[in-house]
Amino acid sequence: MNDNSLFGGIEAGGTKFVCMVGSGPKHIESRVRINTTSPGETLKNVIDFFRPYTKEKMVKAIGIGCFGPLDLNPDSKSNGYITSTPKPGWRNTDVAGILRRELKVNITMDTDVNAAALGEFNWGASKGNDPSLYLTIGTGIGGGYINKGKPLMGLLTPEMGHIHVPHDFNLDPFPGSCPFHKDCFEGLASGPAILSRFNVRGETISDDHPFWEIESAYIASALVDYILILSPRIIILGGGIMQRPILFPIIKRKVQEFLNGYVQSPILLENIDTYIVPPGLGNQSGVLGALALAQLIE
Ligand code: ZN
Repeated sequence: MNDNSLFGGIEAGGTKFVCMVGSGPKHIESRVRINTTSPGETLKNVIDFFRPYTKEKMVKAIGIGCFGPLDLNPDSKSNGYITSTPKPGWRNTDVAGILRRELKVNITMDTDVNAAALGEFNWGASKGNDPSLYLTIGTGIGGGYINKGKPLMGLLTPEMGHIHVPHDFNLDPFPGSCPFHKDCFEGLASGPAILSRFNVRGETISDDHPFWEIESAYIASALVDYILILSPRIIILGGGIMQRPILFPIIKRKVQEFLNGYVQSPILLENIDTYIVPPGLGNQSGVLGALALAQLIE
């Protein structure tokens, strides 16, 4: 790839679309934040932003890291659609197709978390660590696993937030908030799960509240499963919940405790501070990751 080539990236979220033209964090040509309103209005603003670059064929391809659920099956008629989202107006929206038709440029789409994982792998905290895992713990919980330089895609995209983690009802009688599985990982540990458990947002719960030990145990249990199954070389924890600094040391301690010395890797046994880390790109992982998705197009 020519380092001067320009690409487009779109971090498509439920509250904002961040669009970027550039080749990486050191070369950002242009950037805009667009509020997410109706699909028609939002996508028109996105098209207006990219039009000058695609008209002159200055941008080779555009990547979209999008909120979901998404249809990413290349054989499906609704490939590139946002499908059954509860977000008003956005159900069955052909995001990739509309942009492809209007801008006449290669468009590639992946989940927001896969994009963030790829951004961190290209330029952030997991750079050079393959395979690597990026987990976001916030409004939802999701994981992006980068293997051989690309997000892992199988039957569908992995749904790491919906695994089951040990749940002691005596310690935490909350039944869980996932509409599909009740007390899966996301149903117990996401922002909405905390809100419906306590009727207050996580930000207002003090550092010395015993719940943070329980929350950390859910996160650590999930991480142990990912470590045992996927063997990532590094794990990045992002998302709103992870803004709480006290969580990192508790999670690291519990991961070591739950593994109990079984995985004989020096980084896990002696250097876990460099193994479980925050994002290196801050709130830019998503949009830079979308740019990186565009660069994966041959
Ligand atoms: Zn679930």
